[in-house]
Amino acid sequence: MTETILRGRVLSFRRRPEGVSDTDALDWFEDGAVHLRDGMIVAMGDFDRVAVPGVPVTDHRPHLITAGFIDTHIHFPQVQIVASWGAQLMDWLNIYTFPAETRFADPAHAARMAKAFYDLLLSNGTTTASAFCSVHPTSVEAYFTEAEGRGMRMLGGKVLMDRNAPEALQDTPQSAYDDSAALIDRWHGRGRALYAISPRFAITSTPAQMEAAGALIARHPECHVQTHLSENLDEIAFACSLYPEAEGYLDIYARYGMLGPKSLLGHAIHLSDRERAVIGETGAHPVHCPTSNLFLGSGLFDEAALRAHGATSGIATDIGAGMSWSMLKTGGAAYAIAQLQKRSLDPLTGFWWITRGNADVLGLTDRIGTLQAGTEADITVLDSRATPELAIRMEAAQDLKDELFALLIMGDDRAVVETYVAGRPSRPR
Ligand SMILES: [Zn+2]
Repeated sequence: MTETILRGRVLSFRRRPEGVSDTDALDWFEDGAVHLRDGMIVAMGDFDRVAVPGVPVTDHRPHLITAGFIDTHIHFPQVQIVASWGAQLMDWLNIYTFPAETRFADPAHAARMAKAFYDLLLSNGTTTASAFCSVHPTSVEAYFTEAEGRGMRMLGGKVLMDRNAPEALQDTPQSAYDDSAALIDRWHGRGRALYAISPRFAITSTPAQMEAAGALIARHPECHVQTHLSENLDEIAFACSLYPEAEGYLDIYARYGMLGPKSLLGHAIHLSDRERAVIGETGAHPVHCPTSNLFLGSGLFDEAALRAHGATSGIATDIGAGMSWSMLKTGGAAYAIAQLQKRSLDPLTGFWWITRGNADVLGLTDRIGTLQAGTEADITVLDSRATPELAIRMEAAQDLKDELFALLIMGDDRAVVETYVAGRPSRPR
């Protein structure tokens, strides 16, 4: 049995805050503690109440102890194409993304990139992510093998794509089905791995492959589903031209049975109210990728409009179109995008979103995303004075909300003091 108590300023969320003064949404302990045993959290509260004689204490004071960050949309084979210049979505895919993904047929390359991928996630305090791998089963193998070695709860799957991409990145309807089914058998529920069925997007799948994907989803309701939706206007026009019978982009996915509470729809920017209503009715989850949307000039995600239609959204980096691996920076970018829509994302909601909010979207709040007893001990420790600019800013901070906001706007991997995965210190040094 391994057992330890982390002492520090403990922050966790009970639900989505309804504004900056909604402290009832928080569990907040200024001199707090989290008791970890065998990879699980067994208690959270004031240090005096949680402390147990004989159990060693790791003293993180004055740092913040939060649930590990969760990234609900990221591309494993795009580790090396962050900051690729000068293109919007369709050109960016053809010029940079597809050539990079082709290399993941090589198991040695995939394994090396997996090490870099997880080092970067953990350096940034991210303990769970849902990733698109390349079309090659070898990439999924590398992705989950490395995660298993580190004990991480990760979601992912091979992309399905059988047209509008280089030959080396194409599968077929049958091989997409068979390879995905074999990977589900091998990985889903093994340790902490969860499989996500991943038709890349309507443009790179023929109707026959979409049908195969729909059949796979029906056969494996235990798996998540992830794809891309309405990111860019040219993409929407192209997708709709390929499926003229559909009543719009979202309807393509609806027709093949891809919308449900386990569906993650990356981007979901340019939508009609009818489409927002369908997303809300089906329980599917849009995923906001703010730094990516700015980088590719895709458009402004409208979280409030989606919420008004009953849809709950995730938030994600979308590496490699995303500009940062940091969920802090990602939350900061979401703030800036909301400002362009004359709304202010409050810092409590920002922190909720990158932890419990994303766990809610994944349907995993019983396991990750909070510091509640009975959940898995994935924890991030943050130093709000990690850099000179944060330190000088924090001298003028009035309260917790100021501190969290400074971290969202100015924080990044330098603010991450430690990342615990299933109770083990795992931040790369
Ligand atoms: Zn993406």
